[in-house]
Amino acid sequence: MNSPQVEYITRKSAVLSTSSMDCLSDVSTINLTVGCAHGCLYCYTQGYSSYPGNSVVQVYDSLPQQLENELNKKRRLPRRVYFSPSSDLFQPIDGFADVTRQMLNILLERQIEVAFLTKGRIPDTVWSVLEKRPHLVFAQIGLITTNDAIRQIFEPNAAPVDVRLSQIRRLADCGVKTTVRLDPILPGLTDSDEEFDRLCQAVSPSVRSIAASVLFLRPVIYRFMKSRLEQSSIPSELQGKIEEMFSTYSHTERIQIRARNSIIESAPIELRRSIYERLTQRASKYGLSVHICGCKNPDLSSQRCLIAGTCNKESASTPTLFSIEDN
Ligand code: SF4
Repeated sequence: MNSPQVEYITRKSAVLSTSSMDCLSDVSTINLTVGCAHGCLYCYTQGYSSYPGNSVVQVYDSLPQQLENELNKKRRLPRRVYFSPSSDLFQPIDGFADVTRQMLNILLERQIEVAFLTKGRIPDTVWSVLEKRPHLVFAQIGLITTNDAIRQIFEPNAAPVDVRLSQIRRLADCGVKTTVRLDPILPGLTDSDEEFDRLCQAVSPSVRSIAASVLFLRPVIYRFMKSRLEQSSIPSELQGKIEEMFSTYSHTERIQIRARNSIIESAPIELRRSIYERLTQRASKYGLSVHICGCKNPDLSSQRCLIAGTCNKESASTPTLFSIEDN
């Protein structure tokens, strides 16, 4: 996929906002863009009415100044800010790294904790900001597979697997609390025991836990993903597996996730249950705990996936081990 065209727009509403996801109810959130240059095929934001299309990313201009102004007017500063519910803070866009660096710096200098989830390449200039105050940072690195051919198909402009693995190591080494987000797991494609072993083995020296969720699809995303895959050149050895993945979603279950007005098409509960059980088993071999997102799997778990780190409601020292509840 080619890099999308960039448009600059002015944000009219507050920079610090709230997310509709239950997982993020405790924190303020910031989006730096509308749309995302990583172009992940499964990205749920493609279904938003504000989504600018796959060939465009809208970058908010003047955000650092707006954030400063907003924080200066606040009587009480937020405890933690999460980047970004509908985009990624490290996108391959010219000049964007500097905006991200400034935004992180403004928050961290005020002792505001920063949590982020990224599938991108952390720019050189940002590392020094993170390494200066690692105790205030919570990082999640999204990693759906150790197979870079699959990564290239589903996350065409995101960072390669080896870059993400080295970022996980570097973050952990510099004292940033770091976890891995295996989301989405693609049934039939990235959910074999061997793949779970490879991924857990690769990350276990640096992290203690993995957050995971099986792919869910809204009908519109299902259609987008199918049509984008039809336009991609897929290695022949992966074609059958991708068909297998889609066949899983020919019998979906409609469930209401824990987010405002969000109905999703989910893989059948028994399939998700068995994937989570196998992942939990494999991960435990490497000393890793697994958190299943209860927002996206309300029929299986009441856990929180700690997307923005441990919040007020949970203690950092007592991570919740995934256990599948009776439903
Ligand atoms: S990195 Fe996240 S926000 Fe960006 S396209 Fe991928 S899933 Fe969507």
